Amino acid sequence: MPVASDTDGLDAAVARSGDAAEGDLPINELFCSLQGEGRLAGVPSVFVRTSGCNLRCWFCDSYHTSWEPTGDWYGVEDIVAAVEGYDADHVVLTGGEPLVHERSVALLDELGERGYHTTVETNGTIYRDAHVDLASVSPKLASSTPTAERDPKGDGEWADRHEARRLDVDVLAEFVESYETQLKFVVTGPDDMAEIEALVEDVRGAADAPLPDAQVLLMPEGQTREQLDESRRVVADLALEYGYRYTPRLHVDLWNDAPGT
Ligand code: SF4
Repeated sequence: MPVASDTDGLDAAVARSGDAAEGDLPINELFCSLQGEGRLAGVPSVFVRTSGCNLRCWFCDSYHTSWEPTGDWYGVEDIVAAVEGYDADHVVLTGGEPLVHERSVALLDELGERGYHTTVETNGTIYRDAHVDLASVSPKLASSTPTAERDPKGDGEWADRHEARRLDVDVLAEFVESYETQLKFVVTGPDDMAEIEALVEDVRGAADAPLPDAQVLLMPEGQTREQLDESRRVVADLALEYGYRYTPRLHVDLWNDAPGT
């Protein structure tokens, strides 16, 4: 069922839904696959994908958690039971933006208590104190903004809200200080690099903890093999030039754009 069109209203959506108990999380999908991105690429992991996001990147690869958020509501115990049904000791809480939901904290803490390694994939605009073994933070660059020309719905309605919300240096610094963190940038081309360099320097200036280049990841934009064929070499060359780490999109290389991978 639709969960909400804008996560500002998610709490109200929970209260209104006859199927949802207070404290449930809207889940878009839950499945086991290989982690495709970042330092844990290749590790079998259970993915818990929450629905709802406070941003609207034009290239969003989980459209049904952001532009048209859908899912069903589950309690933390039910989600943990579903995770335990798989033979994996890594769990990735992803979205959408999982940290728009306060209840994500209870889920992460419960998974941590049961010995799971937890990764949170977040856009880095909302900080929450929880059991997080790896914060995979993907700050959104200016090139993510859904201008009228790029908006998948064609009207540019979200452009201003997205632009106002997409970066918060103090929140990014809090992640770096509090968790093992990788900063993962979706790169559309060389024009993104000046913004990435400036942002990395800003975060280093604000954070009371180091952020080495090896924790800064460049990932090619592209949701299909064909799109990645055009972008991966460009981004790999940029990683070499700037001294950052390249990350593949292993799941796209392996399974193209098949759902549930
Ligand atoms: S922040 Fe992530 S989930 Fe939200 S719109 Fe952007 S890519 Fe999609």
